[in-house]
Amino acid sequence: MIKAKKSLGQNFLVDRNILEKIVKVTSIKNKNIIEIGPGTGNLTSFILKNNPNKLIVIEKDNTLAKNLESYFKNKIKIINQDILDLDETVLSKDKVIVFGNLPYNISTEILSKWIVNLKENFWFESMVLMFQKEVADRIIAEFNTSNYGRLSIISNWKLNIKKICDIKPGAFSPKPKIDSSLLFFYPKKNFIKIKDPKNLEKITRIFFSQKRKMLKKPFNQIFNGDRKILDKLKIDLNLRPQNLSLDTYYKLTCEYENLIS
Ligand code: SAM
Repeated sequence: MIKAKKSLGQNFLVDRNILEKIVKVTSIKNKNIIEIGPGTGNLTSFILKNNPNKLIVIEKDNTLAKNLESYFKNKIKIINQDILDLDETVLSKDKVIVFGNLPYNISTEILSKWIVNLKENFWFESMVLMFQKEVADRIIAEFNTSNYGRLSIISNWKLNIKKICDIKPGAFSPKPKIDSSLLFFYPKKNFIKIKDPKNLEKITRIFFSQKRKMLKKPFNQIFNGDRKILDKLKIDLNLRPQNLSLDTYYKLTCEYENLIS
């Protein structure tokens, strides 16, 4: 009997209907797949049933990684490492599909790292990822809503995001205290070019540092009250950070890059 480690966000998915639903989000047959945090291998088995070309799994827990090795043998490649320390872009020459019932404590860190490191050519074809519902709500939030913020802006820059479903705690063992949501991500064909995504992180950090205050202060801090930018992007400084659209933040980041270049 495996004792789940809270520190590694171990809530294993046991509901077979949900497992089936996850592997049907996109076609797996003959594709190269990466699974993040396979745990006890529940989702892994469902992925294998759909005949991928190759399945690479990344699991930090040494005991679970050993168990997976003896159970799946050479049907999968196991990387016993921390996903945050790994360059996932070099794992496969061909584009991959990423699956993961992500450890909740580091899910936003994983997603932000992937987005910030995205090069011109995407290393993945799509991603099917499970988040804490409250985090998923922030990822897909539209502007002018209370959940809209840095995570929505960063996540939606290069990716289309579709919510597949919500999942109740009873689908997991041990049961988490919160609901979960399954999201599907796939690359956008067109997106606003930002030279260094770290600048998008910086701009959104400054703008959302005082979410309820007017835009005047963060705008002046970065752009020194430049009226040309305000007029060009049609920004009203009496609005609040949540009232600016996704594209306005991407364009503001481009203006910032012009300023510092
Ligand atoms: N995929 C399994 C399932 O659905 O039953 C387990 C999901 S569980 C929510 C998260 C898994 O990620 C655990 O197996 C945990 O050990 C692993 N994990 C936690 N932190 C990790 C990290 N930094 N790198 C790789 N795996 C990690």
